[in-house]
Order: sequence, then C-alpha cells, then structure tokens
Amino acid sequence: MAADWKFDKSLAWKHLTKQCSFGPRNPGSKGYNECKKYLTDEVKKYCDDVKTVDFKHIWSVTNRYVEMTNIIGEQNWKRAKTRILLIAHWDTRPTSDMDPDDDKTGLPIIGANDGASGVAVLLELMRVMKDRLPKDIGVQYLLTDGEDLGPDLSEMFLGAVNYSKNLPDPKPNYGILLDMIGDKDLRVPMEPNSLRFAGPLVKAFYQNAGKIGLSDTFPLVYGPTIEDDHICINEAGIPTIDLIDFDYAPWHTQADTVDKCSAESLHKIGIALESWLLVRPAFKISK
Ligand SMILES: [Zn+2]
Repeated sequence: MAADWKFDKSLAWKHLTKQCSFGPRNPGSKGYNECKKYLTDEVKKYCDDVKTVDFKHIWSVTNRYVEMTNIIGEQNWKRAKTRILLIAHWDTRPTSDMDPDDDKTGLPIIGANDGASGVAVLLELMRVMKDRLPKDIGVQYLLTDGEDLGPDLSEMFLGAVNYSKNLPDPKPNYGILLDMIGDKDLRVPMEPNSLRFAGPLVKAFYQNAGKIGLSDTFPLVYGPTIEDDHICINEAGIPTIDLIDFDYAPWHTQADTVDKCSAESLHKIGIALESWLLVRPAFKISK
C-alpha cells in the first residue's frame, strides 16, 4: 500500500519528552499526578469515551496502600465488528534496581523507554485514527498503571490484572501490547509467550510489518520470553501479543532517559500499527 502514513513522529516524540519532563512517574509521586492529568486530557481529545479505573494495592515495601489508575480510551468500540485492544503502561519503576551504581538503586527511573515510549505511540495513534478508523473496527487504548511497581513479579502488572478481572462488555477480540519500543537501536523479535498464546496474530502482524518495509525492525526470529501485561490478559481469554525490544542496557537504571530513544523508532511502531488498523490483515485467532 502507499506509504502515505499520517503517524507524525515529531508529535509522538513530543508525547515521550513531555511525559519525561514530569520526572519519575511511579505511583504517588509528583510526576505521576501531573502525568495522569496530561494523559487523561490527551485521551479525551481523541477518543469517544474515556474512563479512569482506580484500584489499590497494599505494597510489601511500605505495608501501605498504593493508589493507581488505568486510563482507558475508546474509538468506535460499541458498534464495531472487530475490537482491538492496544496497551502500554504509563507508570514507571519506583527503583533503579539494575543500576550499576549501588548508591542509585533506590531512586525512581525516568522511564523514557520503559514507560513513556509505548504511551507516546498510542497517543499519536489515537490522533491519527480518530477520523480514519474503518467502520467495522473498534479500538480500546488501555494505559495500564502498576506494571512496574515490584520489587518482584508478584507486585507487577497490577493494572493489567485489574483489567483482566473486569473485562469490558463487549470484550476485545485480541490485544497488542507495546513496551520498551523507543530504543534508538530498535529491533523487536517475536516474543515466545506471545507465540504460545496468540501465534497466528504474531505471524500476521510481522508479515504485515514486512510488507511495509519493516522486516529489519520486526525480524522473524525468537526473542527472549517476557513476563509482561499480556500474560494475565491472555489468561483471561483475550489473545494478546507483546511487542518489546528487551535488548536495552539502561533497563531499570537511571540511564533510561530521552537520549537513549528516537522519534524514528516510535515512527516504525506507529506505522506498523496504523497499517495494521487500516489493512486489517486476515488471520485465524485460534491455532
Ligand atoms: Zn520496567
């Protein structure tokens, strides 16, 4: 198809830098509260319907409640024949547990890639699809909270778990999760859990990306197995894939900053999704 993409990399990039300008966005922080307002306002501009879902969790680190919020926007959800869930986490990690400097491991991360990148792509995609979404397609944009609370896996993916237990009616047919897709040196191999739960969707998505010239970004090779927001959503019966470039040295360190990311990488993910929504490649969801 013609490479007349509406996805604007400079607008996506602004969404990434804006989120980072608030500072760390771990639940309860100043940056978190400012960013929540920013995201809610942005989603309202482009979606028919916006809701915020509050939930809380007693955190093992403090033994106190942490209050969190999923932000959900919809485009043509109720009337559509095919409903597609697009997901990214908006919270950032409260610690830099992988930082090589022991004095810094207690500090919250900026999360330019791990947090801001996926959200930036979804915000720009909302704008692009607002008046262009095919009539039979509905999209729900789910910005999850509590993905990266931790310290370990039992206290991560909290917003996705909340969503999985309270699936919308009507439900999504399938989902696509974006995480850590802003790396300058972007390469998104096929994620094995995604293949296990939703293999035909992975293959169709990568084939379509190849057709628009993105086979280097989406190589048909196996990447590492990832625990992420997609697992509980798959377990709730919604086949969901994770697009993630886990080969990122600044992961969970103070160095996960804007200079490690690029607008070009956001653009590649953005047009892969724009094309997917416009072309609607056929695939059988069950194996
Ligand atoms: Zn993380």
